[in-house]
Amino acid sequence: MARKDLSKFRLDTKLALAGRDPARFDGAINPALHRASTIVIPDADDLYGKPNKTYGLEGMAVQEALREALVAIEGGAEAVLAPSGLAACTLALLTVARANGEILVTDSVYGPTRRFCDTTLKRLGLRTRYIDPRIGAKIAALITDDTCAVFLESPGSCTFELQDIPAISAAARTRDVPVLLDNTWSAGVFLKPFEQGVDLSIQALTKYQAGHADALMGAVIAATPEWGQRVRMTYKQLGLGASPDDAYLVLRGLRTMAVRLERQSASALAIARWLEARSEVARVLHPALPSHPDHELWQRDFTGASGVFAMVLAPATAPDRVKAMLEGYDLFSMGFSWGGYESLIIPTDANITRTAAPWRAEGPLLRLSIGLEHADDLISDLDEGFARLRG
Ligand SMILES: *Cc1c(COP(=O)(O)O)cnc(C)c1O
Repeated sequence: MARKDLSKFRLDTKLALAGRDPARFDGAINPALHRASTIVIPDADDLYGKPNKTYGLEGMAVQEALREALVAIEGGAEAVLAPSGLAACTLALLTVARANGEILVTDSVYGPTRRFCDTTLKRLGLRTRYIDPRIGAKIAALITDDTCAVFLESPGSCTFELQDIPAISAAARTRDVPVLLDNTWSAGVFLKPFEQGVDLSIQALTKYQAGHADALMGAVIAATPEWGQRVRMTYKQLGLGASPDDAYLVLRGLRTMAVRLERQSASALAIARWLEARSEVARVLHPALPSHPDHELWQRDFTGASGVFAMVLAPATAPDRVKAMLEGYDLFSMGFSWGGYESLIIPTDANITRTAAPWRAEGPLLRLSIGLEHADDLISDLDEGFARLRG
């Protein structure tokens, strides 16, 4: 069943079939979970320089099944697993890094990715130039002979600006500059990066793919076999690997991801609409709302929205009231990460660093990740929170 062409199937079917091979798994539906370092090789001629698997760090059947499934979802030629989403971001950046080069990075990028650029890459002699997330085709003017990559994330972490990925990719392509996209928000489902000119798509599988707040993993998915080869080479040299136990959990998560996303997406949109009508809220930052400044781009480039968005509270909200609101919820908890079955809310003002396009807000910025609880229960919980906010 594995390696069969799944392209004719819809997402739900792909998620049920991808990476499955009862012939390889003794008839079992799921792959064997091998914890392996040494792999014994009977033929001395196969020890070096052969395509056969020679060491457990490359991953066994379960990692292979997961990699196949990721390509079935998102497209592209090859997926490489990483121990976390952040490791997938840094792996992709190190794959394209060049001494004395410059990387163009969206100003709305995930904070730890920014820190990697500003410290480790800087130390290695790479410059990072942050770009206005809404720069679009005007990025052409910033591309020089030193530019070694463009790094995008759409929508941006915390502030949810969308990028015109096809316009940016087209400008980068004419100068032979690769485009990297942190595609975590869409789970690889709602945005097809390789149809929009992206070379490397990055997923924090910790989020919707794992889906149960119990595993950390990431992936870089490459548009072409050539890019796959380059990522794999960097991966091997860095000594990265992916735990088989966690790969199993992520693969198991994938089997139900379409169903979870459907519910979480619908609940999130209902809650976003409800929040938008509240006087305590200045703005809701959800790309599927017509009020979102990039709504038209979302309609053009995305086929749906996941369950993560943000709201800006009305001005002059007292900090102690916000604290009381946040700490008193029955259902929403505060915590980092998102995409699990449990709803989360977190203030994110402290996570925003901007140098290219200032971020201005009327009041505190809060990010919500909508879980699988009933939307009406979540709305009641938020409603009671607003009562605490008003005091
Ligand atoms: C969570 C996240 C990451 C990092 O994933 P981890 O597995 O937590 O390291 C990277 N990018 C984005 C956009 C994320 O939301």
